[in-house]
Amino acid sequence: MSNVLKCYLYTNYSEIFFLRGVKLHCTPIQVYSIVMQLLEGNKVSEQIIAEIAEYTQRCKSAGNRVPHLAAILVGDDGASKTYVAAKVKACERAGMDSTLIEFPRDITEVKLLQTIHELNARNDIDGYIVQLPLPKHIDEARVIEAIHPDKDVDGFHPQNLGKMMLSQECFIPATPKGIIELLRRYQIDTVGKQCVVLGRSHIVGLPVAILMQRNMNPGNATVTIVHSKSKDVEEICRRADILIVATGRPEMVTADMVKPGAVIVDVGITRIADESKKSGFRLAGDVNFSEVSPLCSFITPVPGGVGPMTIAALLQNTMQAHERRGGSK
Ligand code: NAP
Repeated sequence: MSNVLKCYLYTNYSEIFFLRGVKLHCTPIQVYSIVMQLLEGNKVSEQIIAEIAEYTQRCKSAGNRVPHLAAILVGDDGASKTYVAAKVKACERAGMDSTLIEFPRDITEVKLLQTIHELNARNDIDGYIVQLPLPKHIDEARVIEAIHPDKDVDGFHPQNLGKMMLSQECFIPATPKGIIELLRRYQIDTVGKQCVVLGRSHIVGLPVAILMQRNMNPGNATVTIVHSKSKDVEEICRRADILIVATGRPEMVTADMVKPGAVIVDVGITRIADESKKSGFRLAGDVNFSEVSPLCSFITPVPGGVGPMTIAALLQNTMQAHERRGGSK
């Protein structure tokens, strides 16, 4: 119960009022009560990893090989290293094999592509990822297109993205897939809801918007995509029953942009310098959590929300690749 907050908003028949000094917009109501629940990606991802561990255990018991994920890491960016290390650790917990291939920042594109071709040909590897972003001298699109679509467990290859658009069997990008899985497991009703997605990147905003409007469950929402050239962003956000934020702009979503009772999914994760922390930084989402959380029905924390779900979804994709290749037989 510690993550459940109860809050009463009193209005004076006006359309704008203040809660804890924050300007809010909502329809005139005398008393509005909201019970906020955290969408605990940490807990749900552990459930998913436990389910995958059962699968790998069945493989072992039958004398078959387990799923094998490889990751290519270029350079020594702190955040990328942390993400890849978390993926490798999750593989261990799920009983999967993993291989980490590290290259210095100045690796040539030719050498990187050569490694990709080798991974495409290796029978013992079910799927692999190239951790993004890559250094500027490497063409990211060329690298992604070189990954064999059947091993593209990040789901970034144009063939997988195209199939996702058509609701065909494919690898769905890990972050959007994790978000949908989180909504599914919390039984969030998305049908006919107004969903606003802030951000249109190929890895988060665009695919999650496609998934939210699909004729599936979760899905069937009416989706609006907002980007840096959009006008009236605040007003559009205030219409959202479900607000998915992936801009990389720390704490840009404030209380006055949120409809009371909305479901908020905060994808953003940015390191902000903080001398009071041992690491020298703190992690911030794209949503101002302290302002917004008392207003909404569900919200993802940062960290511990979308991040772990991304990792769980990547492992699910790798298990799917293993099954497709008949690996469990
Ligand atoms: P990105 O490629 O930089 O895309 C950001 C998007 O936000 C762009 O479409 C941009 O619009 C839009 N945008 C920027 N400022 C805006 C504003 N003021 N109003 C409306 N839209 C705005 O970022 P990304 O890769 O999608 O990642 C977004 C955030 O999610 C980052 O913090 C990233 O670290 C995080 N992330 C987290 C996970 C996870 O597992 N938790 C996974 C992936 C990403 P334009 O297209 O017009 O430029």
